[in-house]
Amino acid sequence: MEGQPSATGTFAIVGVGVFGLSTAFHLRRSHPDAKVFLIDRTRGDRSNRGAASSDFNKIIRADYGDPLYMRLALDAQEIWRADPVFSPHYHECGMLFAEEIGMGRASFDNYRDLGVDTKSEILSKEEALARFPVFQDANWSGAKENYFNPQSGWGEADEAMASFFKATCDTGATFIEATAEKLILDPEGSCSGVAISEHGIKRNVYADRTILCVGAYTEQFLANTAPERSDLQVNGRLVAAAAIQCKAKYPPEQEEMLKKAPVHFLGMWHTHGESIPPFKNRLKFNCEVSFTNMSAHGGLGREISVPPSAESQSAWSQDVPEGLKQEVANVVKNTYGSHVPGIEIESYRMCWDAVSPDQDFIIDCHPTCQNLVIASAGSFHGWKFLPTIGEYVVKRLFGTLEEPLARKWAWNREYTGSACEMYEPTRDVKAIGPFKGWSKTGGVGDDADG
Ligand SMILES: Cc1cc2nc3c(=O)[nH]c(=O)nc-3n(C[C@H](O)[C@H](O)[C@H](O)COP(=O)(O)OP(=O)(O)OC[C@H]3O[C@@H](n4cnc5c(N)ncnc54)[C@H](O)[C@@H]3O)c2cc1C
Repeated sequence: MEGQPSATGTFAIVGVGVFGLSTAFHLRRSHPDAKVFLIDRTRGDRSNRGAASSDFNKIIRADYGDPLYMRLALDAQEIWRADPVFSPHYHECGMLFAEEIGMGRASFDNYRDLGVDTKSEILSKEEALARFPVFQDANWSGAKENYFNPQSGWGEADEAMASFFKATCDTGATFIEATAEKLILDPEGSCSGVAISEHGIKRNVYADRTILCVGAYTEQFLANTAPERSDLQVNGRLVAAAAIQCKAKYPPEQEEMLKKAPVHFLGMWHTHGESIPPFKNRLKFNCEVSFTNMSAHGGLGREISVPPSAESQSAWSQDVPEGLKQEVANVVKNTYGSHVPGIEIESYRMCWDAVSPDQDFIIDCHPTCQNLVIASAGSFHGWKFLPTIGEYVVKRLFGTLEEPLARKWAWNREYTGSACEMYEPTRDVKAIGPFKGWSKTGGVGDDADG
């Protein structure tokens, strides 16, 4: 059994996304004598940098079918509302669900079971449309009921990341802008730090504990470190997967109507996506049907999941397959229809995240590589936990993480099914052809809605 690190030790955190940044902040705050190095190839305050955590905006909600994540999200929301690092970047406009997967009803029941004083409601289609006439031409066919929570909303992603990055550097964490090349493994196979390339100069950062928070790059990074060590590899515990997003402009005369819209989730066979109301005169949409980019890894001699190497294929750009453009246009059309004319898609983005088969996070000490901790698998829902997730990583580091959480987020755990099937990638980006609508039984089909 691995011993606990010293509170005055040195910690190398690789990756400044939600997991890495939050870990650095909570580590410095709870252990002011710890030396914390935060390493990323891009600064945490740079916008549109290709990290999943860097975005135009993200949804913040505690509406979860799993009571455990609901509790954690409620705690995070308290901070979003009250902490000056986060609150200027949080907008509580409410969130409306139209879906056939029972997520709204499950959230509604969970709030009550947990004794949470919630304002969430189940609405009939007529009630929902009376409240939000902006959706009167939305395609809600197949939705069983609507669910609305006025206490959900969204966050300005790049702005919140930049604000927290500053707060974290202010605690005394040292940021190093560098590419991490691989872990340093000693002859016994334990991790003693990370080899980096800093503006072309190679050097080693030695640390008592190395915390790997590289999101969608986790599989590739471990493969590059020691391809000969199969015990080190992710071996299906997570995959790099993406979903397509778009930003759209709209005629100025629509502003009045659009700014009354809540965040909207559509979860029906013909539409799997979300929309976020205006920010900087733009609407944002996601299409949740994910995909991989499998690529050969020479060292391993097999394919692994990894984001494409071109930055334009993980940042906002036009460099996106036509079929994906059509899939996200389907979300736009089915959200606002002809009731809001003139919405025009401006740019696209494939947003790459690490996704685990059950969509639970991985926060654990690597069982066969001493001194290495993995904090990853945001699984398309991790961003809202920016203010708090690092607390749990620090607890895992020091052996104080509550047992149910330690079990849920373990590197080695039993998978008992997927929390949200549409997040599970079942196709590869290279195989995506023209969009012909989704099939009622799953996948791309010919029975597109009209
Ligand atoms: C389409 C989409 C929409 C989403 N929407 C929401 C939402 O609305 N609400 C929500 O709560 N969650 C959402 N999520 C999930 C959320 O974005 C992620 O769970 C979260 O951002 C993951 O953070 P991370 O720290 O694991 O990874 P990242 O944010 O990707 O950070 C990883 C970091 O590692 C760095 N890195 C990688 N390799 C190296 C290396 N070799 N050297 C140096 N640095 C390296 C990268 O530069 C990057 O900064 C969404 C995800 C997707 C894909």
